[in-house]
Amino acid sequence: MAKIGFIGLGIIGSGIVKNLLKAGHEVTVWNRTTSKIAEMETLGAKSVADPIDLMHGYDYFAYCLADDFAVTEIITSGRELASKINSTTVVIDFSTIDPDTSLAERALYEARGVKFLDAPVFGTKGEANNGGLWIVIGGDENVFNSAQEVLTPISETLHYMGKGGNGAMMKLVGNLLVVSQLLSLGEALTMAKKAGLNLRDVLGIAAVADFRTPIYNGVGAGVLANDYEVNFPLRLMLKDAKLMQAFGARLGTSVSIADSVRPFLETGVEEGLGDLNASALIKVMAEKIGVDLSDK
Ligand code: NAP
Repeated sequence: MAKIGFIGLGIIGSGIVKNLLKAGHEVTVWNRTTSKIAEMETLGAKSVADPIDLMHGYDYFAYCLADDFAVTEIITSGRELASKINSTTVVIDFSTIDPDTSLAERALYEARGVKFLDAPVFGTKGEANNGGLWIVIGGDENVFNSAQEVLTPISETLHYMGKGGNGAMMKLVGNLLVVSQLLSLGEALTMAKKAGLNLRDVLGIAAVADFRTPIYNGVGAGVLANDYEVNFPLRLMLKDAKLMQAFGARLGTSVSIADSVRPFLETGVEEGLGDLNASALIKVMAEKIGVDLSDK
């Protein structure tokens, strides 16, 4: 069993750690907000008071941090952990960040001979807790193969995408598809409600017709129940919309979905909905038109 140092006990990181422990690995954690460490300790994790103490004596160093700012603060410029880690430790970054940030951290690691995988995840709280994430990985294929002992217990499927940075890129491509479904569902439900259609009937058709998706099903039911309990925080969806826009601009490709959704996400954050589920953007969209989608 491997010795793993892990940083970032948020919604996804805590689920990952639970399944690494369940698989029998020895996991030592650190989190900025120390209150989140206790639950992991009850499940068998060890902890350190400072992440610098995870730099030596571990087979793997992995993290799932909120955004580019956090990765920069902890890994690259701020705490400079990438410049302090033992060269035999394999590093895995599960965060969703700009591919350029991922390539920059990779360069720091590789300059010192440290093996690194960019490995952002699809799936949300349930998949993280159940070891059912879908993970997209960039980096050396031999490193990917050797890291199966860590990646397999936390995932339903693993997708090796090729060279370093490709995992981070695939994550933004996938999130463009996710956000397009949230946006289309919001517009469709708002139109249907305004037109006087029964939203249960609308979702019933969306559940069986050739445009059905798990997102229409799950999010649609939540919207009608006025249930925006967090799985994927709206504030992080705003972060991802910005990442998609920046990535698209660099590539010269259209990201009209990200352009359209961003103002609703910004309004959501301004209205204090940032820690609700990203699907709350549909509530923001409907309220802008003066429509209440809840059937409560
Ligand atoms: P989260 O619950 O907000 O957790 C974020 C983690 O990052 C926390 O441990 C947080 O520490 C830490 N963090 C944030 N800023 C930091 C800083 N400046 N210094 C040190 N630590 C910092 O987020 P999450 O939902 O787990 O998401 C984590 C990553 O996975 C994000 O990149 C997200 O886009 C991606 N992701 C999330 C989902 C999902 O459904 N939730 C799905 C796929 C991908 P504190 O506890 O101290 O705040």
